[in-house]
Amino acid sequence: RSSKDKPDEVSNLTVAVRIRPMNVKELDCVGATDIVRVRGNDLIIRTQPLGSSSTSVDHIFQYDHVFWSCDESNRIYSTQEDVFMTMGKPLLNSAFHGYNACLFAYGQTGSGKSFSMMGKHSYDNLDIDTDQYSGITPRFCRDLFEQISSLDKECVATVEVSYFEIYNEKIHDLLSCGTNANRTPLKVREHPVWGPYVVNLSVHTVKTYKELRTWLLLGNKNRATAATTMNEKSSRSHSIFSIELCICDGSKDGDMGRRSRVSLVDLAGSERLGNSHNSEEKIREGVCINKSLLTLGKVISALADQKKNQFVPYRDSVLTWLLRESLGGNSLTSMLATISPASTHLDETLATLRYACQAR
Ligand code: ADP
Repeated sequence: RSSKDKPDEVSNLTVAVRIRPMNVKELDCVGATDIVRVRGNDLIIRTQPLGSSSTSVDHIFQYDHVFWSCDESNRIYSTQEDVFMTMGKPLLNSAFHGYNACLFAYGQTGSGKSFSMMGKHSYDNLDIDTDQYSGITPRFCRDLFEQISSLDKECVATVEVSYFEIYNEKIHDLLSCGTNANRTPLKVREHPVWGPYVVNLSVHTVKTYKELRTWLLLGNKNRATAATTMNEKSSRSHSIFSIELCICDGSKDGDMGRRSRVSLVDLAGSERLGNSHNSEEKIREGVCINKSLLTLGKVISALADQKKNQFVPYRDSVLTWLLRESLGGNSLTSMLATISPASTHLDETLATLRYACQAR
């Protein structure tokens, strides 16, 4: 294995932005223009202030990577595989060295979080050989088993997966075999050695990508069904797909194994709720989402700024508390912020880009 794979030679935090293509609604909308430009890893938002026809204002942001999704002249086209290779593969390599990792997709609803994390056909395909639109999570898992098959003969690897969502700070198992109608929230406890964990969360041992894919598809379906039956929107919940890898080397006496956990997180839509006509429930929902996204931002920027020895407020949200062991220390953290290129989403896009900058 190349020494480049080792986490101490890569930065612990990577922040990238992905711009999805304009959709039909945006293309049809009178006055909607494409306001995003890219220069290397700089992303430029060009705005035309009201009342001025000639002068435009550029907001410039810098990231580790910027991914275009459409193929036009002077634009770099990024496929699902490209995004995986840049954002997912380093986390996979570090997991084989025993390090934890987290990857978050952040952005307003409809900007491409699920497309990037799961894919376009998240209920009925995710077979990478036939589905070019499979996202980071299925690609990560397929490569995981490929790398396992190339380990030394003496090594025994076990893979366990779980999949849950956090809605209004409450946890629901997306893979429990019982009926999903029973949406009793699960509790979080703290193990003295392993840290925070979800009590009674179902954990599934898988031996092949095919087996794992069945769980992924089931979890994706459960997420959508739960959202409909509970009158929720899946865009208002965070979903966390968690992979635990343990590698024991049989050639070493008493080897306790290297254990690592990777969490692939599709965050709730970051859009601020309009403040008119909101029910009490909608307001509570908004407060929970804001709180966890805000806390995540604070945790990541505190980690990015380790010199200052800042207090890291993990316990301020269920999401950050649960991921504590995978954020900070030797863990790798990646954030993929997703945006629309259309002027109609300017405010949300700027908010997303600022959030991602603050993390960096
Ligand atoms: P979100 O999860 O942020 O709410 P989605 O991932 O569901 O958004 O994306 C909204 C729509 O845009 C979907 O129809 C999706 O297929 C499409 N889309 C998103 N990102 C891309 C992309 N990079 N290339 C092509 N289509 C995309």
